[in-house]
Amino acid sequence: MLSYDQITLDSFRTSWLPASLNAAMLRLDKIHPEISGNKWFKLKYNIAAAKTNGCSGILTYGGAYSNHIAATALACKEAGLPCTGVIRGEEHQRQLNHTLQTAANNGMQLLFVSREKYRDHKTGQTLFPGYHIVPEGGHNAAGAKGCEEILSVFPTTAYTHILCATGTGTTLAGLINSAQPHQQVTGIPVLKGAQYLEKEVAALLHPGGTSHWQLLYEHHGGGYAKKSPALIDFINSFYNETGIPTDFIYTGKLVMAFRELAQQGYFPANSKVLLIHTGGLQGNLSLPPGVLSF
Ligand SMILES: *Cc1c(COP(=O)(O)O)cnc(C)c1O
Repeated sequence: MLSYDQITLDSFRTSWLPASLNAAMLRLDKIHPEISGNKWFKLKYNIAAAKTNGCSGILTYGGAYSNHIAATALACKEAGLPCTGVIRGEEHQRQLNHTLQTAANNGMQLLFVSREKYRDHKTGQTLFPGYHIVPEGGHNAAGAKGCEEILSVFPTTAYTHILCATGTGTTLAGLINSAQPHQQVTGIPVLKGAQYLEKEVAALLHPGGTSHWQLLYEHHGGGYAKKSPALIDFINSFYNETGIPTDFIYTGKLVMAFRELAQQGYFPANSKVLLIHTGGLQGNLSLPPGVLSF
């Protein structure tokens, strides 16, 4: 169903990267131009489970700008499964934004509910009996299982450090579960005050991965989807130096965190650092035209 043929592993060098470090970007963003790379991995085993169990469709949850909602719609279309997205707090919305329009165009039925109703995670379930339920952000064991395949798209065992941007922590858990014992895996939360992630990630771990992992909480740049001129300048200069586009919500903050850590001497000399490009580039469509140089 999902093809990973387009993914590349791009080594890069920038003016700020210490000469003693090697860095590369695993380009999951190339899986699809509009749909976030990591979301495919999180959906893979959820869709397989829905099919194996003969479910009538997929029911999932998200906000109006959720990359997960858009990805679920397309993945279900490809799998030939009906799907419904329960959308938070937008019940009076008449004009669909880009994300929701993409989801609707791909056949997702949208169910708008108040924030109160949304908080009750059972909302919609009685309306869609026999549907396989995927929690918000694809945050479940099947989601983490799919993410365990990210590090084997290319040979990656030579890397000493693996970094990814973190929302729910599902991708991070899959990376930790599949990393080698000598590898250190670091999640960069893009939400402020996300210390709860520690437990949520730990709950998805199983033996066999690496015990060297951590979350670094100081790189959210003001909070979820908050942007500064420094971030935008950084995204532009990173693109100009490497040809790699990033988004202002997740991957731009990831690379900026990497620069800070590299400059602080966080990585020992001769470290090989692998950054996971989780996609999200369509999020940049909400920026005024001309702000980004790509
Ligand atoms: C959803 C998303 C993430 C966060 O992934 P989690 O598994 O929820 O931590 C990171 N990057 C991009 C681009 C995303 O869309």
